[in-house]
Amino acid sequence: MTLVMKFGGTSVGSAQAMRETAVLITNTLKSWSNGIVIASAMGSKPVKVTDLLLNGAYAAAKGDLETARTNAALIREIHQATINELLTNEQDAIREENNTFIDHFESLCQAVAVLGELSPRALDTIGGMGERMSVRILAAYMREQGVPAEAIDATELILTDSRFQDASPDFAGTKEQTEARIRPLLDQNIIPIVTGFIGADANGVQTTLGRGGSDFSAAILGQVLGAEEVWIWTDVDGVMTTDPRIVDNARSIPELSFREVSELAYYGARVLHPKTMRPCVENNIPLRIKNTFNPEHPGTVIVPKRTNQNGGIKAVTSIKDLSLITVEGKGMLGIPGIAARTFGAVATTGQSVLLISQASSEQSICFTTPSSASKIVVDALNSEFTKELARRDIDSIQAHNGVSIITVVGAGMRGLPGVAGKVFTALGDSGVNIIAIAQGSSECSISVVVEEQESVTAVQSIHALI
Ligand code: ASP
Ligand code: MG
Repeated sequence: MTLVMKFGGTSVGSAQAMRETAVLITNTLKSWSNGIVIASAMGSKPVKVTDLLLNGAYAAAKGDLETARTNAALIREIHQATINELLTNEQDAIREENNTFIDHFESLCQAVAVLGELSPRALDTIGGMGERMSVRILAAYMREQGVPAEAIDATELILTDSRFQDASPDFAGTKEQTEARIRPLLDQNIIPIVTGFIGADANGVQTTLGRGGSDFSAAILGQVLGAEEVWIWTDVDGVMTTDPRIVDNARSIPELSFREVSELAYYGARVLHPKTMRPCVENNIPLRIKNTFNPEHPGTVIVPKRTNQNGGIKAVTSIKDLSLITVEGKGMLGIPGIAARTFGAVATTGQSVLLISQASSEQSICFTTPSSASKIVVDALNSEFTKELARRDIDSIQAHNGVSIITVVGAGMRGLPGVAGKVFTALGDSGVNIIAIAQGSSECSISVVVEEQESVTAVQSIHALI
């Protein structure tokens, strides 16, 4: 039985956090025969080591070495303080290792400043240093507590392509490297403490999996090691029924299907790095989200198949600051290609569309864009449809600014009549006016567009149905 656990920046963000994390690791692994730990760079909000590294490099590229130096000093301070507080026997050795990384960061920034150029490759070397430092501290601390542990750079395990900043793993190569390096440790009951976020390409050059990529690292290692479960330890009790800042009694959802999580993530509830689920879905590995600060709480488990119905609705989210764009005209009826041209024109502006709705009369199409983009999108549509507007085939292209999308998610809605009715009744009863509606054909979510000032009431009234 193999468990892969990932700890985010806050879970290793200070000496105290590392102590608690070490206890969690040992306690949890008592019930598992094999455990692998993935850790992010130290990062207690608002100071994240990865940000300090990357911002230092960006500043250096603009000739501002002062910021790079200040950041280096801060990074040194954060790590030193933790090392001093946690370590005894290995204190000097680990401090020296950490300092080597920070010195290297400073000299790379100098080189960047001289060249006035910052390549994606250099960014990955610099940005991934935080993980290389944090795992060394955590592993040494565990050893000092009498728990055999070894820090490992994922450059030795995760083989990727050379797309710096957003590298993709080669699973076959990763499996081979990981088996060779990790299996012997597991056989000796040594806990591997692996850097999240990074990998290396076939030439051994360090790459990163994209910001927030440590979750993905855990899923990749879960797949290649054939793990029974992957746990993501974070600072919340799993995925919530809604934003707790909007609804007081928002609660953690015990179980979600992969599909439901994707839907939630699409509509703004960022829970995991977006690529994390795929290795788990394809290999039937449950993915559990747990709270480091409340470890007894079961959190949320994300499972491949849809689960209990629970009245159909599991969560409700809202996205603000949107604009609803409507293309309308009696002459649009039955003319093929209007939709294609509409979205073609939107695509030229580089804006993504979160929701589309067309009535069956074919006299209008509406969709949402971020408010900030509404003008360029409307301009693009006006120039695409100049002729149709002149002929009055299209009567108007309008932007309705200041709207929100409210999305209700739950795979149990499929084949359960009446859920949409309940949602609309709840909205009607609280006086919320629905401007547009869209339901995915997967029947896993329903979205409504409402005036922004009604979005809190909308979320609260729908949440009362859960
Ligand atoms: N440290 C990296 C970041 O901040 C990776 C992660 O935390 O998942 O993006
Ligand atoms: Mg994260």
